[in-house]
Amino acid sequence: MAAHRCKKLVFSSSATVYGWPKDLPCTEESSLSAMNPYGRTKLMIEDICRDMHHADSEWKIMLLRYFNPVGAHPSGDIGEDPRGIPNNLMPLVQQVAVGRRPALTVFGNDYLTKDGTGVRDYIHVVDLAEGHIAALKKLFEDPKIGCEVYNLGTGKGTSVLEMVAAFEKASGKKIPLVFAGRRPGDAEVLFASTSKAEKELNWKAKYGIEEMCRDQWNWASKNPWGYESPDTANVLLTDEYYYI
Ligand code: UDP
Repeated sequence: MAAHRCKKLVFSSSATVYGWPKDLPCTEESSLSAMNPYGRTKLMIEDICRDMHHADSEWKIMLLRYFNPVGAHPSGDIGEDPRGIPNNLMPLVQQVAVGRRPALTVFGNDYLTKDGTGVRDYIHVVDLAEGHIAALKKLFEDPKIGCEVYNLGTGKGTSVLEMVAAFEKASGKKIPLVFAGRRPGDAEVLFASTSKAEKELNWKAKYGIEEMCRDQWNWASKNPWGYESPDTANVLLTDEYYYI
């Protein structure tokens, strides 16, 4: 990048850099720790970015800490379609809803949360995209930019069971659940303080979990196999798929 005189960078970091936070909401000043290899990669790259700016202040860098992006473009034409078995909650919920999987495994229902399941700050992908536009604007227009960090979240915590209920409502589909133990490396509760992004980027998430589930179901029902077909998708086929 430097050889091509491009010294402006936006890095997709993650809320996972907050580890299992002691104080909530997570502010950009909260302490950082990696609880899993993925989180460690994000922390390492954040450190590299901070060092780069320190060594050469021509580097202008935005570290955007995404909370949990979900949903799809409202057109229903662009959505998430992970290869292989998804890792994240909502792609799995979606695959259960369209009949590609028989049930959702809930990782842990003994957390100290309202219903015992993990709590996260889910953010609509369109809000997240708009957060990037706001960050780019600042990167290009504010001469005082150094290496800056911003949370991109809604500030609201939602449990796994609340998210499943919202998706059932949006889709009209029942999501069968299987309760299992906690997933190693998972935090109990994570949600963002959004005030820095609101103040400095002039950006705030507009959508709630109802819109996230509505748009995700719109994408899923139009594209039950994502960008693939039943022949190419390496997935479990159940009878329910034929009743959509
Ligand atoms: N989760 C779950 N079953 C799954 C996948 C995720 O119960 O099959 C839970 C997970 O324990 C966490 C929440 O859903 O409490 C969000 O998990 P995800 O992997 O989507 O995001 P992350 O843990 O990285 O925040």
